[in-house]
Amino acid sequence: MARKFFVGGNFKMNGDIQTIKTIVENLNKAQLDPNTEVVVAPPALYLLLVREHLRSGIEVAAQNVFDKPNGAFTGEISVTQLKDSNITWTILGHSERRTYFGDTDAIVASKTKYATDNGVGVIWCCGESLEQREAGETVDVITKQLAALKEKLDGEAAWKNVVIAYEPIWAIGTGKVASTEQAQEVHAAIRKWLKENVSEKVADETRILYGGSVNGKNCKELATQPDIDGFLVGGASLKPEFVDIINSKQ
Ligand code: PGA
Repeated sequence: MARKFFVGGNFKMNGDIQTIKTIVENLNKAQLDPNTEVVVAPPALYLLLVREHLRSGIEVAAQNVFDKPNGAFTGEISVTQLKDSNITWTILGHSERRTYFGDTDAIVASKTKYATDNGVGVIWCCGESLEQREAGETVDVITKQLAALKEKLDGEAAWKNVVIAYEPIWAIGTGKVASTEQAQEVHAAIRKWLKENVSEKVADETRILYGGSVNGKNCKELATQPDIDGFLVGGASLKPEFVDIINSKQ
């Protein structure tokens, strides 16, 4: 089946009211490929600002969410609050969260289950470090992350709300993009794992994004690969070239 191309913009902890408004205005004016699903993830403080100003048809994502109902959890935001604010997606398991904020495979899986069960889509991130790649452990690392997720997600319905982002840690923010062959190889391995461990349907339907130093120049070639269904873009999502990345299939 044809998977709809998907491009996410992860602003990380960047921007201020003015620069974020400018990014939104640029997106509102741009000619975007109607066959691409676009989701932008500003810092939590600006989620409502972006949702209010961004044209309909582009969705907004949080960069993280907690896996409990509203309550005494200082500093967190809930899935209910996201839905109340028309924020329909969240990124989970980004390597920066895993590295700096202690989000383990199990925590990420639990948050993913909670979000998908409660109707918020998840851009679920995985990826290996340079050390792990050089030791030939890439597929093992990702398989372990996927297995933790599978343990929590029950059934095909939950996977419908998950988009996988393969983001090699050594390629994030470094300008060192994975080659098309390196990316395609891992994406194919993820799809094979889904087929063997979840179902053929989930393997066929799940979008697998590549992330890590994607820019307006390298996106087109990456987008030609059969198992690359879009991108999760950091630095370049703050720049006008984000539009070229959204349109990379054209
Ligand atoms: P980058 O970040 O595009 O700046 O490398 C990607 C990401 O971390 O999602």
